[in-house]
Amino acid sequence: MKHLELCQVNFSYPSGFSLDGINLEINKGEILGVLGPNGSGKSTLVQLLSRLYSPTTGSIRLNGIDLSEYTTREFSRQVAVIPADNYFTFPFSVSEVVQMGRYPYLGRLQRLRGRDLEWTLRARKLTNISALWDRSISALSSGERQRVLIARALAQNPSVLIFDEPSSHLDINHQIEIFRMLKNFSEKYGTTILVVLHDLTLADAFCEEVAILKSGKLVKSGPPKKVITTKILRSVFQADVQLHRGPDGAASLNFQLDILD
Ligand code: ADP
Ligand code: MG
Repeated sequence: MKHLELCQVNFSYPSGFSLDGINLEINKGEILGVLGPNGSGKSTLVQLLSRLYSPTTGSIRLNGIDLSEYTTREFSRQVAVIPADNYFTFPFSVSEVVQMGRYPYLGRLQRLRGRDLEWTLRARKLTNISALWDRSISALSSGERQRVLIARALAQNPSVLIFDEPSSHLDINHQIEIFRMLKNFSEKYGTTILVVLHDLTLADAFCEEVAILKSGKLVKSGPPKKVITTKILRSVFQADVQLHRGPDGAASLNFQLDILD
């Protein structure tokens, strides 16, 4: 059994956009990268996985059980979502935001217990945010705020972590740092990660599987080397690109996208 499965998932907005017949599977502890042009339906897919919307037809199963069958509490223990838009209107402190990751484990009005504090501190350490701990979330840079939101998600100790465009406003060093951190976490705790991203080299280097969406349809999914190819990139992004791969191993990071004349 796959950890997370999408089976013939269909969904439409009243505006007319639809996701059509999406089939995807992720093994436990693996990282799936979702790629595709703007407006191809990546965030819509994330919202279906977050249960913000339900598929019109088809099913999404976690551990073989349809998402709709989970109680809110159980679902929020299992699945952590880091949304693309990380805007906070209330000036919570960083520590408060990270502790929110433990709410699914607490009873009403119950305070954090030993295990909750352990996870909160572990997340703080992994994301390197000790120096920000007492600051207000609304007074941070977007890169810092993103680390705090990652910490909140890690503190939750979810079995599935969903991340919509983790690095869209970070420089390349920070992007790599974030992917290393996610990969380490996933290897250590068996967390399955679905990440929407734009950077093809990062997807190639860090994801076991990638899926490419275009106009609400799944163009192709599979290991990066099979999916991230010149032919597919040209057809999906309609850009005149040439993809190079170096020799094996770490070579996956060596490929370049050259814009041709
Ligand atoms: P991506 O994340 O790949 O850029 P989205 O999933 O955000 O794409 O959007 C896919 C399409 O669905 C777009 O055409 C967008 O305008 C439309 N869309 C997104 N959210 C909504 C919504 N809440 N209501 C109606 N249409 C939406
Ligand atoms: Mg999006």
